[in-house]
Amino acid sequence: MSGATKILLIYTGGTIGMVKDYKTGALKAFDFSELLKRIPELNQLDCKIDTVSFDKPIDSSNMNARHWIHLASLIEAHYDEYDGFVVLHGSDTMSYTSSALSFMLENLAKPVIFTGSQLPIGDLRTDAKENLITSVQIAALTENGQPVVQEVGLYFEYKLYRANRTTKINAEHFQAFASLNHPPLIESGVHLKVYRDNLLGNSGSKKFKVHKIMSDDVAILKLFPNMSEKVMRSVLDIPGLKALVMETYGSGNAPTEPWLSNALNLAAERGVQVVNVTQCSGGSVVMGRYETSKHLQSAQVINGKDITTEAAITKLMYLLGSEISPKLFKTVFETSLRGEMR
Ligand code: ASP
Repeated sequence: MSGATKILLIYTGGTIGMVKDYKTGALKAFDFSELLKRIPELNQLDCKIDTVSFDKPIDSSNMNARHWIHLASLIEAHYDEYDGFVVLHGSDTMSYTSSALSFMLENLAKPVIFTGSQLPIGDLRTDAKENLITSVQIAALTENGQPVVQEVGLYFEYKLYRANRTTKINAEHFQAFASLNHPPLIESGVHLKVYRDNLLGNSGSKKFKVHKIMSDDVAILKLFPNMSEKVMRSVLDIPGLKALVMETYGSGNAPTEPWLSNALNLAAERGVQVVNVTQCSGGSVVMGRYETSKHLQSAQVINGKDITTEAAITKLMYLLGSEISPKLFKTVFETSLRGEMR
């Protein structure tokens, strides 16, 4: 790592940025301008860290596309100036924000590493320090003068994952995230172990481009046994709805009752795009494997393959915002754009 490596740390909010006031016992927001004083270990990393914080740090439950666009714009504005970016974010919706950013940042050739923590940075047993320090270290990793990571990653509890492959799976354990359909990119033990084959290839000389229009004409519907026609219809009939993530069973299966096929066919006629994503945390949709998914194929339902719900909904927002032609929409969605599906 060279002394000249520059990292921009962006604080958006969440538990990680809190410290305990040991006199009162209360949690309060951490002053990030004091970061290096508070965590002197960061000085040993031999890189220059600048910090920028959201004016009003937020709990990640309040994140929306305006915040994503702000984040993407910050990275765009500082792209040439820094070698890597670390985004501190609440863990609750971190997989959504980081998936969204993976689509918004096209031809990314520098690391953008999301991290957070289950316990505040000022807590005695905190996981924040390791998550933060290792994320900075990963963002500063280079090989032959090139950044090792050239994609949006999520680092938590000793593992760097491809962000758009992750899901928050635990509200209690330090290991809060899983990426069941793609192996870790880097593991942190005594040394950092980089799994090169799992990383996205260099996007080469293609120009970095930031997309800032995200549609909100989308919804998610999770199927459940005994779901009534009126539930399905009322979702598909939402005024202005352009696309729906439909969480199905197992390898992409749904009831074969005629009302379901009819509702989907009517939606397809109106140009509503429906994506088939499995409710299982691991594995893939295989359309047509069972009779219970053949009718979805006939209704032009998009095959979400092994994509997460978080990546599917943000990919829909991105593709609708990019005004992909309805004719190409299914093909483009079924293509892996940022390593989000096989
Ligand atoms: N509720 C918090 C948030 O997502 C939890 C965390 O930071 O991990 O902002």
